[in-house]
Amino acid sequence: MTELPIVPRVLVLANQKGGVGKTTTVINVGAHLAELGRRVLIIDCDPQANATSGLGIARRDIPASTYDVLVLGRPLAEARMHTSIPGLDLVPSDIALAGAEIELVGVARREKRLTYALEALADDPLDYVILDCPPSLGLLTVNAVVAAQALLVPIQCEFYALEGLGLLTHTISLLRRELNPHLRIAGIVLTLHDGRLTLAGQVVDEVRKRFGDLVLEPVIPRNVRLSEAPSYGLPITAYAPTSRGADAYRELAAHLDARLQAEAGLATAPSLA
Ligand code: ADP
Ligand code: MG
Repeated sequence: MTELPIVPRVLVLANQKGGVGKTTTVINVGAHLAELGRRVLIIDCDPQANATSGLGIARRDIPASTYDVLVLGRPLAEARMHTSIPGLDLVPSDIALAGAEIELVGVARREKRLTYALEALADDPLDYVILDCPPSLGLLTVNAVVAAQALLVPIQCEFYALEGLGLLTHTISLLRRELNPHLRIAGIVLTLHDGRLTLAGQVVDEVRKRFGDLVLEPVIPRNVRLSEAPSYGLPITAYAPTSRGADAYRELAAHLDARLQAEAGLATAPSLA
C-alpha cells in the first residue's frame, strides 16, 4: 500500500437533502477504508447523531461530543473514541449539537471552529477524517465544508435528484467561492439505486452526462442489509460483509482512495463546468 501524505485528507459528505445516503456512505466508506488499512476518523457533525448510533455508540458512553468541541472548545482528543472496527475512530454527536447553530451566532470566526479543532491532528498518523453533515446548509455544514479539503456528494437515484442537480451545482460553486476555494470535488456517489426502476437508470445516465468522471464507481444499490446494519450498530463490513451493499461500498472506497492518492499531487481542483 502506498503511503499517504502525513496530513490527513479531510473529506466532507454534503448534500442539503436528507435521506440521500450521506451517513450510510460515511459509515461504510469509513469502515472499508479502515479495512484497507487506512486510519480513519469519522466526525459526526449532525445533531441527529446517526453516524454515532450507526457505529454502535450509545449516548451514555460518550465522554464528550462534537458539541463540546465546537461550542465549548474542548480538545478533539477528549471526544475521540475507538469503534468496534480496528482503525476506525469516531468523534460522536448528540442532540446538544442542535443548539450550536444558535449558541455560536455571536462567536468570532464561528465558521472556523472545526478547522481550529482539526489543527490538533497535524501530527496524528491518520489518513482520513470524514465529516458527516446534517441535511441543511446551516453553520454545522458550513464548519465542515470550511474544514475540508475534498467534498463527496451523494445523490439518490430518484426523480427529485434530477430536479435538484442544477441547485446542487449552484450550491457547490457557492460553497467554493464563499467558503473554501481550495475544496476539491472528490466525487459524486450515486446511492439507493433500484435496478428494477427505469427511472433509476435515467438518473444514473443524466448524472454521468452532467458530471462525467466526477461520478465514482460503482453505483450503490438499494440493499436491505445496508438499511439494517445501523440498528445493530455495525458498518456493513461487520454486519453483512458479503452482501451486495458491502461489495459496492468496498469497491467505492477503493476507487475513492485511489483517486485521492492520485490527486494528492495535483495543484488544481477538478472543475464542475
Ligand atoms: P442521510 O444521511 O443523507 O440523511 P442516510 O444515510 O441516513 O441518509 O439514509 C437514509 C435512509 O436510507 C436510512 O434509513 C438508511 O439506512 C437507508 N439507506 C441508505 N442507503 C441505502 C442503501 N443503499 N440501501 C438501502 N437503504 C439505504
Ligand atoms: Mg445523515
